Amino acid sequence: MSRVHLLATGGTIAGKAGSEVDPGYRSGEVAVEGLIDAVPGLRALAQLRGEQVAQVGSQDMNDALWLLLAARIDALFGANEADGIVITHGTDTVEETGYFLHLVVKSPRPVVLTGAMRPATALSADGPLNLYNAVAVAADPAARGRGAIVVLNDDLHCARDVTKASTTDVHTFISPGPGLLGSASYGRIRYFRQPPHPHSAASEFSVDGLERLPRVDILYAHANMPADLVRASVSLGARGLVVAGMGNGNVSTDAASALAEAVRAGVVVVRSSRGLSGDVGRNIELDDDALGLVAADQLNPQKSRVLLQLCLARGMGRGAVQEAFFRY
Ligand code: ASP
Repeated sequence: MSRVHLLATGGTIAGKAGSEVDPGYRSGEVAVEGLIDAVPGLRALAQLRGEQVAQVGSQDMNDALWLLLAARIDALFGANEADGIVITHGTDTVEETGYFLHLVVKSPRPVVLTGAMRPATALSADGPLNLYNAVAVAADPAARGRGAIVVLNDDLHCARDVTKASTTDVHTFISPGPGLLGSASYGRIRYFRQPPHPHSAASEFSVDGLERLPRVDILYAHANMPADLVRASVSLGARGLVVAGMGNGNVSTDAASALAEAVRAGVVVVRSSRGLSGDVGRNIELDDDALGLVAADQLNPQKSRVLLQLCLARGMGRGAVQEAFFRY
């Protein structure tokens, strides 16, 4: 039987409401043993151990917790104490945590993230079946080598591709473009593809010796976008900026000038898009070569921030950062 180590971090899956139909609730209230005990048959899928790493709504997920999670997973795999990891996590930022772990965890053993849209106390809570499927994936030798996998609502997503698309729907997660990695049906797992981009041991990133991540801010572009927020981020110490640009990563002419100023001051600036799908290419409407900007290619703003933080932590300049965005 596979050994699966469950790292609990909070989120709605561990949330409690005043009644079964109360839309208001508190994230991160049920402890890891309670999550495990709520799922009939879970212990028949794997030799399971639970550990409470944090108890937060994932809006409070942060760089320090990412580094802690990555180090803990490296230690568990390094000491051969687990064949797979499941992380219970809030859905708001699970795509960012998942992509971070996809890039830095060095083992081919599965790292599976799951959560829920309805709190543990809700009518038709979705957490127990999500957790059941997540443990089944983590225990499955066929999940090896696929990087970090997000499992929710019977779908398996590559952590690189997944994004949260609805505030309330249990079918909130989509992988625009590349599509699903696989599916789960009451613990029976099917895989549709391999993630084509480098991850895990094939990625150059790791958390070895990393004590903190550099500050990278995301700026949301819009009609009438002013330039001063760019200057504010730079003066507050951002070493990188990601723009959630309009369409193909566009910003206003004023904001583009301020971004070029930021580049001249040594800040690496990545243009992503506020659109849900499609690539951001180089030199489309903005002259990236002249302005010194990096195009995000396929990564959304929040994933771009993760990759840019890791690139800057490795001391990469903007040419190397652009290559990383095309590669990862
Ligand atoms: N705000 C919650 C969180 O991300 C939402 C959820 O888990 O679904 O922790």
